[in-house]
Amino acid sequence: MIGDIIQLEKARMAYKNGTLKQSYLITGPWDIGKKDFAIAFSAMIFCETKDNCGKCKGCKKTNSFSNPDFYVLDEEGQIKIDSIRELNKKLNLKPYEFESKVALIIGAERMTIEAANSLLKILEEPPEDSVIILTSAVPGQLLETIKSRCQDIKLKNMPKKMIVEELIKNHGLKSDEALRIANIALGRPKLAEKLVVNDDYGEEVEFLREIAKKNLCDRFKLASDFAEKKNVLRLIGYWETFFMDLLKAKMDGRDDLSTTKHKVKDFSWDIWAIVNILDILEKMREYIQSKIKNKLILENIFLNI
Ligand SMILES: [Zn+2]
Repeated sequence: MIGDIIQLEKARMAYKNGTLKQSYLITGPWDIGKKDFAIAFSAMIFCETKDNCGKCKGCKKTNSFSNPDFYVLDEEGQIKIDSIRELNKKLNLKPYEFESKVALIIGAERMTIEAANSLLKILEEPPEDSVIILTSAVPGQLLETIKSRCQDIKLKNMPKKMIVEELIKNHGLKSDEALRIANIALGRPKLAEKLVVNDDYGEEVEFLREIAKKNLCDRFKLASDFAEKKNVLRLIGYWETFFMDLLKAKMDGRDDLSTTKHKVKDFSWDIWAIVNILDILEKMREYIQSKIKNKLILENIFLNI
């Protein structure tokens, strides 16, 4: 499901009116579906009808990543200068098959400073017939000079009711399970889809039950382990969702939680402890935007849980 239909419609209107910009930055919470949106956006640029018809050569080739004029940089880890140079070379060639070229950089905040400066040069004088699209969940980590050269598209959360309906209709879920997943997804359609396939939320809730029993030394070890292996923004998001759920249930005097099958009594935190943890999680989420090291962020969380 493409989350933000309204934003896509706006982009279509701009395209049809001939006011397409040369560079875009797509932002929004983690797992809202920025990449899917960016691909739909790119397909629109190549579509014969300018409308994501899904049937023409432009749509089909873009959606299946076999479009020779569509360059996607979607690497694990840091994005290095060589990748940006390679992209620049491709953008300076004439289009092979279509009238324009589109370059898409997923998770642009992962560029090294050299890579970011190299991209900045491209953005200053983008090759003709080229559109450059960046996506980022943490735009605070991007150079101001890059952000100022891109048209910003902020993706908004989808209403819960729509996610529940999609999960029932397209994924065959029962209504209570669809509702539980929608309660975790909090308006992020991509996350809802991922949870259907792999409920890693459940794993992270289990982890919270475990870490509450660990000593300080083990907590430090876990922080450094997690900093290397896990998406910290996603973890913080999950934990915020869980603690909000727990807090609401406690305040309402319920024993059932809306995001997990565990009961309130399975967790020992009292209301004040939960409020304190939520406060720390919120602060740490803001720190991520300012490039504070993940390990420090996790240590701070783990010491306070
Ligand atoms: Zn089409």
